[in-house]
Formats: sequence, structure tokens, C-alpha cells
Amino acid sequence: MMGVQSVTLVLAVLSGTGIYGVLASLSQERVASAGFWFEDVSFESSRLGGPLTREDMARIAHVARSELTAAFAGLRVTLSGRQDARYRVRVVQQLLDRRFKREVAIAGESRAIRGFGGVGAVSFYFLASGAVASAPDSADRAALVDAIGRGVGRAAVHEFVHQLLPLAPIHDSSDVQSYEYASASRREQYFGAMRWGPARPLLQRAYGG
Ligand SMILES: [Zn+2]
Repeated sequence: MMGVQSVTLVLAVLSGTGIYGVLASLSQERVASAGFWFEDVSFESSRLGGPLTREDMARIAHVARSELTAAFAGLRVTLSGRQDARYRVRVVQQLLDRRFKREVAIAGESRAIRGFGGVGAVSFYFLASGAVASAPDSADRAALVDAIGRGVGRAAVHEFVHQLLPLAPIHDSSDVQSYEYASASRREQYFGAMRWGPARPLLQRAYGG
């Protein structure tokens, strides 16, 4: 489960007549701005021979952004590192499922309000651990680093979809190779090609060129 939580918008912060103007302008939104960035995260494993280096992190960020760029190609979604973008996913060290009292780690989470925007995060620890655990014995260090980048990028794609289509039942996808698949605990999150499932036509309708 990557986790999505709907939230109740506190409309009270918006004054009376102003809200209709905001709703009208957002419904005509031409381009969805999507901000993606890394917080200060780290990971180490004996399989990697120690901690990730600064160079590893630069490579991971590059691979993750490439995943996002490829996934949203052809849609009116502008990707950047902007932390004030309407839709946002940040990479944090760890995420815990707040629905449980005991510690349950999750790969990602998002909150979104249809037409307004969304905020989300993905867990670097969860995804780096998953990449290393899923790697074939033959994978060298560079392959592991790239797999971490893919895992992070694909989880970010999934969270952006929750934000861009907050009402769509995207977890209905039973295709383990799809972005929409409900769990990041899968080898396909990190290795091999990934494809769109049921969300793509919905994205096309809402954000198609
Ligand atoms: Zn999800």
C-alpha cells in the first residue's frame, strides 16, 4: 500500500465570494505544475559497501527525475523542483502509517483536493531498502544505485497520480508492472520496465495535450 488519505478542505480560510473565483480559475488550469525534490536523506547497506555517497545521490536524483519525465510525457504536467508547485512530492527519510499505533513503514502518501492541488511524500528508506532487497545477486553497485532511483521515481509517479486524480480508484490495477499498482513491495518497482494502467486514459482526459 502506498497510502492515500483524503482530507477535508477547510474552506473557512477562503472568504465568501472569493472561493468561486478560485474554483473557476483552477478548473480551467492549463498546465499542472508538479514539484519533486529530495530532502536530506541517507541510506547505507553492506550490499552497497557502506553509505550512499554524494555522487550516488546525484545519480539517484537524476534517475528518479527521468522516471517522472518519461511517465508524464505527452501530458500537460510540468515537472520541476519547485517547492511551491500546485502538486508536490518530496523524498523524505522515512514515512510511517499514521493509522496504526505501532510503527508501520509505508512507501508513500499523498493528500489532495480535486482541482486545488496536493502534497505528498515518498520514503527514501523504504525504497532504497526495497531496491537492495529486490536486486539479483549479479547486480553491481551501480545497478543498485540506479534501482534506488527508479524505485523513488516510480513511487513519486504513483503519488502524483493520486494527487492529479484524487477520486480515481487507481489501486484497482492488478498489473504488477504498472505505476498504479497498490504496493511498492515488488521487484518491478525497481527492475524492468514500468507501464501505465487504468490511470493513463483518465490523465489523458484531464491533462492530455
Ligand atoms: Zn497508492
